[in-house]
Amino acid sequence: MRFSKLRLTGFKSFVDPTDLIIADGLTGVVGPNGCGKSNLLEALRWVMGENRPTAMRGGGMEDVIFAGAATRPARNFAEVALHLDNSERLAPAGFNDHDQLEIVRRITRDVGSAYKVGAKDVRARDVQMLFADASTGAHSPALVRQGQIAELINAKPKNRRRILEEAAGISGLYQRRHEAELKLKGAETNLARVDDVIEQLA
Ligand code: ATP
Repeated sequence: MRFSKLRLTGFKSFVDPTDLIIADGLTGVVGPNGCGKSNLLEALRWVMGENRPTAMRGGGMEDVIFAGAATRPARNFAEVALHLDNSERLAPAGFNDHDQLEIVRRITRDVGSAYKVGAKDVRARDVQMLFADASTGAHSPALVRQGQIAELINAKPKNRRRILEEAAGISGLYQRRHEAELKLKGAETNLARVDDVIEQLA
């Protein structure tokens, strides 16, 4: 799957609908200080399911909504849509019927976030898994923010290993393993309860 377009509406400084076409090869974003370069990268992380306000340089998730300017009132919602080229049919089952896949996240004040893949309402987890299985996501090391290269050079080996695992495409498996462990724990608790009941009946 390849990212082909990012559309921002009411997201941080991008108050009017703005399309960023992501062509084949390397995409560079240049512009003066404060023009919104980092906001674009944050929009990409956000639509892939980022749920830490600090990763969005905010105090709460609603801080991503356009907060108003001297000549424009604040918005009530922010929306980011990411278009994926799925012509190689690499999307997970259930989302794999079309050449183009659109993932949309919208946050509304006092309501919270909602996600859609294609026209279907989905959970944050579904979107996070979709990207994890494609070896990318909100925490992908492929999204490099300012100052991150220096951090990487000084990183501990364990943190560097995460980058290799991401490149090897196994990071989605970690999340699945964690979920399987939780299910196993739940099953063990249920079994213990059944044992108690059997003991009481005996
Ligand atoms: P630099 O090159 O200095 O790092 P940049 O091009 O990366 O800058 P950003 O940090 O992406 O710029 O954008 C900062 C701008 O976004 C600021 O002008 C800030 O006021 C604006 N901004 C951030 N959040 C909001 C918001 N919720 N509503 C309106 N504007 C916002």
